[in-house]
Amino acid sequence: MTSEKLDTKLVTVGRKKRYQQGSVNPVIQRASSLVFDSVQEKKTATRNRAKGGLFYGRRGTLTHFALQEAMAELEGGVGCALYPCGAAAIANTILSFVKSGDHILLTETAYEPTQDFCNVILADMGVETQYYPQLIGADIKDMIKENTSVVFLEAPSSITMEVPDVPAMVKAIREVNPEIVIIIDNTWAAGILFDALDHGVDISVQAGTKYIVGHSDAMLGTAVSNERCWDRLRERSYLMGQMVDADTAYVSLRGIRTMGLRLKQHQSSSIEIAQWLSERPEVEVVNHPALPECKGHEAYKKTFKGSCGLFSIILKEKLSQEKLEDFLDNFTHFSMAYSWGGYESLILANQPEEIAKIRPLSGAEFEGTLVRLHIGLEDPQDLIEDLERGFARLAS
Ligand SMILES: *Cc1c(COP(=O)(O)O)cnc(C)c1O
Repeated sequence: MTSEKLDTKLVTVGRKKRYQQGSVNPVIQRASSLVFDSVQEKKTATRNRAKGGLFYGRRGTLTHFALQEAMAELEGGVGCALYPCGAAAIANTILSFVKSGDHILLTETAYEPTQDFCNVILADMGVETQYYPQLIGADIKDMIKENTSVVFLEAPSSITMEVPDVPAMVKAIREVNPEIVIIIDNTWAAGILFDALDHGVDISVQAGTKYIVGHSDAMLGTAVSNERCWDRLRERSYLMGQMVDADTAYVSLRGIRTMGLRLKQHQSSSIEIAQWLSERPEVEVVNHPALPECKGHEAYKKTFKGSCGLFSIILKEKLSQEKLEDFLDNFTHFSMAYSWGGYESLILANQPEEIAKIRPLSGAEFEGTLVRLHIGLEDPQDLIEDLERGFARLAS
């Protein structure tokens, strides 16, 4: 860890002569086989295969090493495992730390595929998943069992955006059993707006697909680990065959260079638009962690360094199917798509009964239609006017 400020780090991390060979960026080293010149060299490479030496493509090449070093340094860990997408990072990180007969705790507001992975695959393996309320705080200690091996957090909640008090949860978990592996899905904070490892979390997982890649044109998963969990995470992920191609590693590292700047713009535009929305008569509540009306705003203020472009609102009205389609189908700047974190603005809507299906404990705690927005890098005034036209469609 260097003592430089974040913006400087984003420019400098992972940059080494060995990776760049004279250019500013690392070489794109595409390789399965890495050739050894002698028996001795092969021996040395085998011995150093987990220590940044060239060994075999699945262990990574110079391009991967540059990205892994950058990620580990940015998130304050000792290493970073790479995966072909965020879902693979989540699945393989959990799989690295559970065995049949274990019990894990998962937030009931986790990203839906994380819930499905636990409900389907872990269940088949004989690992029990128990859901906890997202804002449980220190009371998580009462849910820990003898056989609890993993507690999985996500901050903030997928879609509904409640922010948990991570330090309070970590402290409570450690008091009961310091061996438990605490993993967080840190995608919303892009790994840098919330210092998960500094707050005692063992492994910070991200869908690099979102802000690291930043241009909606590649998929990546990352898991940065502290010292305690790194050897096991690295070796087990390797056994499960997890790696990305060198081209993806390259564009991901390139994304990191501009990520600080992009996030500042996503933050300022999303807060401006969130505040504008909170004044609108059509809107019941704005779930943006930086706004006081968002559940967990206090925890956000205490522990986050900033916010990104993703938030949601609840409309007062539950839109009919016809109104919903007219609203969503006719935006100029907001496209409808899964995923987020690119330079472009996105919009999606969920009815309360759809949210109820992915909240196994609490159901939906609202009655109107939920609209999720990703605020991209367009001028916020153009986006506000687009939303204004959307509200006019609802009124007509
Ligand atoms: C998108 C997303 C994922 C999954 O990432 P993929 O790269 O699409 O597999 C995981 N967690 C969160 C919070 C996400 O938004």
